[in-house]
Amino acid sequence: MFRVKPLCRLCECPTADGAVRIVQVDREKLRTWADNFLRSNAFKTELMEKQVEDDDLICYFCIWQTEFLAQVNNLDESLTWWPQNLELDRVSEELRKHFLEGNADQCWVPLEKIQPLHAFPTEQ
Ligand SMILES: [Zn+2]
Repeated sequence: MFRVKPLCRLCECPTADGAVRIVQVDREKLRTWADNFLRSNAFKTELMEKQVEDDDLICYFCIWQTEFLAQVNNLDESLTWWPQNLELDRVSEELRKHFLEGNADQCWVPLEKIQPLHAFPTEQ
């Protein structure tokens, strides 16, 4: 079966390793943060124009990356837009730990959907 995970609004990668819905983040802070730190892109424009939907997703990797950069740069609390009490399952918690230690990175490979040329002959 061919399945496609919805794309993260920030990095536009599939949200296969988990994501939060826009409704879970502080939109005002996200807008201010985007204005300060994002280069011009469609997401930033849509945020500014309030065209982002509650169900749009931001992947864990973008959140962890931002969280990390915020710590390193002593980012003002008024810009910490991601959920502060995010409850991760064991696998995501492990992934976060490895990501922050630099042992894991976001990675995905697009696979081509193939059509079978003909059905396999059934055994007799
Ligand atoms: Zn992302």
